[in-house]
Amino acid sequence: MGGAPGGRGRRTKGVAVTVARRRLAATVAALLAATVGVQLSGCTAGAGTGATGPASAASDPTSDASEGVPSPGGAPGTSTTSPAGPSATASDTPALRPASTPVDDRSGKARNTPLTVNGIVVVSAEHPVGSRYTPELASGQPLAKPAARAFTKLQRAVRMAGLRLDVVSGYRSYGAQSALYNSRLASMGRAWTAKYVAKPGTSEHQTGLAVDLRSPSGRGTSFDDTREWRWLRRHAQDYGFVLRYPQGTTKITGIGFEPWHWRYVGVAQATAIRALGADVTIEEYLRLT
Ligand SMILES: [Zn+2]
Repeated sequence: MGGAPGGRGRRTKGVAVTVARRRLAATVAALLAATVGVQLSGCTAGAGTGATGPASAASDPTSDASEGVPSPGGAPGTSTTSPAGPSATASDTPALRPASTPVDDRSGKARNTPLTVNGIVVVSAEHPVGSRYTPELASGQPLAKPAARAFTKLQRAVRMAGLRLDVVSGYRSYGAQSALYNSRLASMGRAWTAKYVAKPGTSEHQTGLAVDLRSPSGRGTSFDDTREWRWLRRHAQDYGFVLRYPQGTTKITGIGFEPWHWRYVGVAQATAIRALGADVTIEEYLRLT
């Protein structure tokens, strides 16, 4: 997202992050149990169905420059750096949700790689990534390896349900994001660009863990009025994906509602996030707000 002033000095808040594994384990178990029984409520109030806003541009998912955050690994355990230091414990249970506010204490060269909290990569205006960072992409797919594998499974399930999802955009390099940002700035203006397009280095598309989707019956701001969207709301977490910028969470993510933008975090994390609610953000889940 753009540089809307307003960043509150969150990152200085530094409570040492200790992972209360036992308590977490219990919480996670409860969350997982809850998930099983919870069936999504229908989300889509269809607020932004194309009627409002810069419909043309908004309906072009490619314009979503706004990417916010997180990242790679997806698979719990792929973490690179983690302020929370959730490295493997004696047990095999990966720490899911941090017990307290993580501290982004990357400095020097470490700022070239994304912040990773408990296995979840976070890239946003508050937690940017360096221009040289590139994920290991799956061959033939615009996604990082773990995300690509999971997305392939998700696509299979979507087809079996008689639906169809098309990828509008996946991995974008720092340079590509920069070009997109400047292009939108010129065509759509500063306000629109700030809301929907992430500045280079702040887009999670640079991690290869985010994918913008559309269906034959809707894209962009009208994607949330499609059967494919409803399917994703109900099943995406089973494949490790979560809605990254839910409606009504702009103050938290810094980005407008983007029904088309889905983020891979791995099945365990996605399930835990989803268990907290259909519109819970990664920031809230990771206590980064
Ligand atoms: Zn996107």
